[in-house]
Amino acid sequence: MSSVGTARLLIGNGGEAALELTVEPWAETHQMLPKQTWAIVTHSPAADGSWSGTLRRNEPFQVDHRPESVTVWVNGNCFHLSNAEGTTIDSADWQCPAQGTAS
Ligand SMILES: [Zn+2]
Repeated sequence: MSSVGTARLLIGNGGEAALELTVEPWAETHQMLPKQTWAIVTHSPAADGSWSGTLRRNEPFQVDHRPESVTVWVNGNCFHLSNAEGTTIDSADWQCPAQGTAS
C-alpha cells in the first residue's frame, strides 16, 4: 500500500458564526462551529499517486469559499473527515485504496 497517494487538508473556521462545509462530489454537508479545525484526507486511486483533478491535473483538492460556506472538491477515491482530536466525523471510504477493499 506504499504506492497509494495520500493528501491532507486542514480546514479552520476562524469566524464568529457556524460555517457550512460541503464535501463534493459526495455532497456531504456539515456545520463547523467557530474555532473548529478539521482535517480531510483523501487517497489517490492511481498507482503513481497522481490525482485526476477536475479543473487542473494533479490537484488533490479544490476549495471554493463563499460568505457562509466552504466547498471542498476531493479528487481522490475517498474522503476521511476528522476533528482536531482525530475522531472521524464523516467518510466515504467504500472505494478507499488505502483500506484494501476487495471490490
Ligand atoms: Zn481513503
